[in-house]
Amino acid sequence: MDKGALAPEGSYIELVVSASKSLIDKSRTEIVDLALAEVREFFPAARAATLLKSTVIKEVHATYSPRPGIDTYRPPQVTPWPRVFLAGDWTATGWPATMEGAVRSGYLAAQALTNAAGLTDKKFLAPDLPASGLMRLFLP
Ligand SMILES: Cc1cc2nc3c(=O)[nH]c(=O)nc-3n(C[C@H](O)[C@H](O)[C@H](O)COP(=O)(O)OP(=O)(O)OC[C@H]3O[C@@H](n4cnc5c(N)ncnc54)[C@H](O)[C@@H]3O)c2cc1C
Repeated sequence: MDKGALAPEGSYIELVVSASKSLIDKSRTEIVDLALAEVREFFPAARAATLLKSTVIKEVHATYSPRPGIDTYRPPQVTPWPRVFLAGDWTATGWPATMEGAVRSGYLAAQALTNAAGLTDKKFLAPDLPASGLMRLFLP
């Protein structure tokens, strides 16, 4: 849940709920009521504030829910056309279709392009950070 800035003379607040399967069938009024209750719970100063206007945007295609084997359908950045390269969160990045995946796809596309141009000394993709803490338990 992201929080907008609270200014003394008025404010604009934006909330994002990911994986909101339990909310999607609710009415906009119900969603606003739920959100407002949480804002007031976590930010006591908001209890005295009056909501003047609200908008609810339901986006069920924000990110896809991957199933086993879906990676075989994601195309690489290199295409059969030597001057056409693909970038986008939906391409084969090894990462989910998120902002991080989209950035990675851009690096991979740039790498494919420079490789094709013979500029093999150019490196774009930063290596992953080493796993620390509990994440080490998930390493193969
Ligand atoms: C509501 C919502 C919430 C999200 N929340 C998160 C989040 O919290 N964390 C996270 O990591 N990811 C989140 N995502 C996913 C994330 O936004 C995407 O994974 C990421 O933006 C994909 O980047 P992209 O560059 O591949 O594509 P996009 O960001 O979709 O960029 C593609 C661009 O191409 C343009 N375009 C399309 N067709 C044409 C055309 N024919 N000619 C010219 N331009 C064209 C589009 O207008 C667009 O600007 C969210 C997505 C949505 C919709």
